[in-house]
Amino acid sequence: MSVFLDSAYDNHELVTFGHDRATGLRAIIAVHNSTLGPGVGGCRMYPYPDDDAALRDVLRLSRGMTYKSALADLPLGGGKSVIIGNPREDKSPALMRAMGEFVHSQGGRYVAAEDSGTGVDDLREMASVTPYVSGIADNEHGGDPSPSTAYGLFVGIRAAVVHRLGVDNTAGLRVAIQGLGHVGFLLARLLRDDGAIVYGADVNAINLQRAVELLGVIPVDVDDILFCEADILAPCALGAVLDEQTIPRLRSGIVAGGANNQLATPLDAGRLRDRGILYCPDFLINAGGIIDVHHQRLGSADAAVRAHVAGIEQNLLEVLRRSDSSGESTDAVAEALAMEKIDRQRNVEDSERVSPADPEMPPAAAMR
Ligand code: NAD
Repeated sequence: MSVFLDSAYDNHELVTFGHDRATGLRAIIAVHNSTLGPGVGGCRMYPYPDDDAALRDVLRLSRGMTYKSALADLPLGGGKSVIIGNPREDKSPALMRAMGEFVHSQGGRYVAAEDSGTGVDDLREMASVTPYVSGIADNEHGGDPSPSTAYGLFVGIRAAVVHRLGVDNTAGLRVAIQGLGHVGFLLARLLRDDGAIVYGADVNAINLQRAVELLGVIPVDVDDILFCEADILAPCALGAVLDEQTIPRLRSGIVAGGANNQLATPLDAGRLRDRGILYCPDFLINAGGIIDVHHQRLGSADAAVRAHVAGIEQNLLEVLRRSDSSGESTDAVAEALAMEKIDRQRNVEDSERVSPADPEMPPAAAMR
């Protein structure tokens, strides 16, 4: 596969492959854009069918992190890493330490956090060999950013219903959640406490049962959850669930969920808009996790983290207003808003570097 010609490649600054003979580690680190800071993002472990699939995933995910951190006003760039392997069978402390060495070899350009297939214990193994790890704070959640992600989604859903339905809470609204894992379960609890009627599906029977028994979630078949008649659909399991086949069958007016890369292609944002479905860009409303991870590094108080996550509401309302007035999809508007923030910083840096008044700068001719 040609990296530079692939559709997932978007001027990424760094794509690097790592292998460790002793543990069998095969991994890729990608940093998409570091204008605002080092590339911070999850380390995913997944049994990819081939190297191309792993490469595309890390390219797409790291790009999403650039937008996510920029929109959340974090001094962070977009980075991600993937380990090729089955987390249930192939993971070992030694493999995670080898991954830590690989992360360390990038000298801080990439900082790892939890993702699908890795948890706080794995990150702690990595942290035994490198400081470039986040999301392992000794807070009440043991470093797990999911509560902040769920809270950000909840805040985003409330903003979306204000905008679309003119009501300031979710009482009596029907929400269909696909995936009741870390994020989906906590989102269901926040919605239930707000008075929403929550439907849910999960391929894992234990996770479904837990949500039904503890939260009163109404169980739905996994094949039907996307197409439930609901006010809000919250995909909280997998990426690429919104595509040419599924979008025509949706029966929710709002899509707002935690899964990364919910749109299979950029064209799907237009498909949702054309159907009159309000799509809340995933990289905007699921930013609670990266905000949490950032504050863990700073040692911030819980109240400061919560206030920062609550900012997702205003960000989303700004995107929805711009989308309404321009007619562009919410996804395109959110990307443009993130790029505005990045370009503003780039311009500041450029003007500081190439100031004609700077006596240290050699004349332009001398630089050629
Ligand atoms: P998780 O693994 O804890 O939960 C995912 C759940 O989805 C699991 O219970 C799984 O059984 C279920 N699932 C998988 N396939 C399914 C299907 N086809 N239908 C229904 N259920 C299915 O993961 P999580 O931490 O809750 O994250 C959920 C999503 O949100 C992921 O895409 C993740 O990348 C994204 N995300 C998570 C965070 C975070 O803080 N955890 C932050 C940002 C984005």
